[in-house]
Amino acid sequence: MRVYSIPMRTRFRGITRRDGALLHGPAGWGEFSPFAEYGPAEAARWLAAAREAAHEGWPAPVRDGVPVNATIPAVGPERAFALAKESGCRTAKVKVAEPGQSGADDMARVEAVRDALGPDGRIRVDANGGWDVDQAAAMIRSLDRFELEYAEQPCPTLDDLKRVRLRVDVPIAADESVRRAEDPLKVRAAGAADIVVLKVQPLGGVRAALRVAEAVGLPVVVSSAVETSVGLAAGVALAAALPELPFACGLATLSLLEGDVVDAPLVPVDGVLPVRRPDVDPAALARHEPGGDAAERWAERARSAGRHLPGAEPSR
Ligand SMILES: [Mg+2]
Repeated sequence: MRVYSIPMRTRFRGITRRDGALLHGPAGWGEFSPFAEYGPAEAARWLAAAREAAHEGWPAPVRDGVPVNATIPAVGPERAFALAKESGCRTAKVKVAEPGQSGADDMARVEAVRDALGPDGRIRVDANGGWDVDQAAAMIRSLDRFELEYAEQPCPTLDDLKRVRLRVDVPIAADESVRRAEDPLKVRAAGAADIVVLKVQPLGGVRAALRVAEAVGLPVVVSSAVETSVGLAAGVALAAALPELPFACGLATLSLLEGDVVDAPLVPVDGVLPVRRPDVDPAALARHEPGGDAAERWAERARSAGRHLPGAEPSR
């Protein structure tokens, strides 16, 4: 096991560095990077994903490229226009409902992105659960003037998502509502969304995520947990193995990090990520390897997570 700590270009989830561990096995490298607040039971699924990558590898792809979206943060319209234009992507996810900003800010940002992408670009908005039902219904209707492909997590709860879904014509996607394998089925049973966002590590690996996708029977958007190219490769493998992939995926997140650990990072070309598995570059990894007791802390985190996996020795 090796560990990394890479500064983030912009603060995300309240963190300014991304930390994680990389496992090596006969099939290659796997990433184990649960966020700091996750306990051993939750981290166990992230460990299962890393072990699958290191020991088994992934199912065969059915496509050789994965279209990805640009992500436009809650910036002003000029910056939003430039980011969408520079991305080379045909799909943009625009952050909305930012605390301290107004609906007019969201309208101006989405309009600017529509101008940048032109009429055949696709725009989705992501509120990260920041609206209540009335705000969500009103804002989604207003923003749909610029033609939305879907609205992601407009409200925090399944009940509220369902109520919004009944009031607007724009499809609703569930992201934060999906954190464990059983959640997509709850989303579907509640009638809370038309689309689910799936991430490999929290679901316990590519095969586990494929089973979830099949069971839920809704269109899937594969997204990253803001990983190095080692973790992103697992997301690409999932997106590449899904029988249907109607939407661009949220896997163009390497640009959020100041660096990477591989020789040829997974960055999109013309809005598409190639389906491949980059090799860890020892020099790049060494640059991002923290000193102190980080290696010992991650080893202990993996050991305690491992005790929650099926077949683990009962802890004494
Ligand atoms: Mg989201």
